[in-house]
Amino acid sequence: MPVGREIMTAVAEPTTNVETIKNYSAGKWTPSGTKRTGDVFNPSTGKVIARVPMSTAAEADAVVKAAHAALPEWSAVPVVERVRVMFKLREIMLQRFDEIARLITREHGKTLAEARASTQRGIEVVEYACGVPSMIMGSTMQNIARNVDSETFRHPVGVCVGITPFNFPAMVPMWMFPIAIACGNTFVLKPSERVPLSVNLIGEMMADAGCPAGVFNIVHGDKEVVDALLTHPLVRAISFVGSTGVAQHVYETGTKHGKRVQAAGGAKNHLLIMPDADLEQAAAALQASAFGCAGERCMAGSVAVPVGKIADPLVARLREIGGKMKTGPTDSDEKVDMGPVITRAHQQRVTGYLDIAKNEGATIALDGREIPAAKSDGFFVGPTVIDNVKQGMRVAKEEIFGPVLSVMRVGDIDEALNIGKASEYGNGASIFTKSGWAARQFKMHFNAGMIGINIGVPAPMAWFPFTGWNKSFFGDLHIQGEEAVHFYTQQKTIMTRWFESAEESHHDPVWKGQKQK
Ligand code: NAD
Repeated sequence: MPVGREIMTAVAEPTTNVETIKNYSAGKWTPSGTKRTGDVFNPSTGKVIARVPMSTAAEADAVVKAAHAALPEWSAVPVVERVRVMFKLREIMLQRFDEIARLITREHGKTLAEARASTQRGIEVVEYACGVPSMIMGSTMQNIARNVDSETFRHPVGVCVGITPFNFPAMVPMWMFPIAIACGNTFVLKPSERVPLSVNLIGEMMADAGCPAGVFNIVHGDKEVVDALLTHPLVRAISFVGSTGVAQHVYETGTKHGKRVQAAGGAKNHLLIMPDADLEQAAAALQASAFGCAGERCMAGSVAVPVGKIADPLVARLREIGGKMKTGPTDSDEKVDMGPVITRAHQQRVTGYLDIAKNEGATIALDGREIPAAKSDGFFVGPTVIDNVKQGMRVAKEEIFGPVLSVMRVGDIDEALNIGKASEYGNGASIFTKSGWAARQFKMHFNAGMIGINIGVPAPMAWFPFTGWNKSFFGDLHIQGEEAVHFYTQQKTIMTRWFESAEESHHDPVWKGQKQK
């Protein structure tokens, strides 16, 4: 039996007496000694399916030391051999594709189609990491001075840490470790305590792919573990994805302790619909953007900004198609259009925004509290549309992270651009139009880092960086693409001079003050 296979017995069946999952360090699956644990739910049923240990700072220290111990040997493995682990991982992931997707659905609640799509996006990062040999090549120049050549190399940075959110249990961790490990680093992953199971399955696959002990490690837990990692002297780089408050904390603490940090935060993404837009195409894209993954996406469209006369027909169409969507348990019904949100507390937080909106003067055009599944034990909120939202209202500016679309009606494109300027976030934004001029204005001037033109969710593919702006990102080099390769490597510049003979070396043109020819 491959290392770690027993870890999955912890999630075989929902029982009242579920097992506590293990950490993965130095190639071994180890139970945490902590007394603090958290429940992992199947959000479709509300049942506890596993317990996650809130590991201690001392356990985080031991995992970092295991990663550090593996570093000299792994960084000396030729890159072409390192990426063979990624080629093998890809093969295993394709063979066990459905198993990964079903586990994501079970612990997170995404529909199976959404879980499959996110697994595919994650595998694309593994494929990108297979190309690391050509991406860590340096540059050279001969004769930068007489008989002097210069070259650059990219070295691994050392022990890297990944801290990930609940909304993409496998994909977001896969944004990070494949590139970091292919670049010659060792890695400690701290997954979300709400969805820790998919990551353990990936740990098992990494072992099966031949990843040596200590190169890829998993430590489960919460703030205690995160803070121990952020301040650990042997950690060199930290990749974080999560909410803005925590992203800022991770960035400030990590950089204060001398680490390079990339920290992606929350979002409030605007979808601008021009009067000339194709109504059907725009409404379908808005539906997928706002309600896909139950709105728990950092690139979800959460504010529709219809310009002029398209507002009435757009809201009517959104009510109609949103109202027809079937929300229900994703683990037992593959035909549902939308699954639950992550926890009971989050369900209450999301629906609480409907009261807030009403009190602030907005109109509930489609009420997600009124769906049949809302009465079940699962954590369901149906598609929700809040109309007549104005600048300054909480539903206009706060990240709700549920299937809730706020509609802010405007008179022209400048008003829409100003809504973007007022937002403290800046992840994604899209425009729907047939006008090249309007699209160009939007692309040039909207205050966000990832722009879509007639695209509902303009999330970049693996070989492009995930370029959030403002409070949606703290740091410099972004996640994914070439910037990730730069983040996980440090450059060395070398200047070389060789002499033809001892005599020549004694007549150094620089030091002996000889005139250059
Ligand atoms: P979260 O910030 O609550 O948790 C993220 C990670 O931080 C988890 O591993 C968690 O254990 C840890 N954490 C939580 N509180 C902490 C604290 N006080 N100190 C130290 N560590 C702490 O985020 P979440 O609710 O799991 O995920 C949803 C958020 O992630 C949303 O805001 C969403 O927009 C964001 N997100 C952003 C991107 C992006 O690319 N910008 C992508 C996905 C998700």
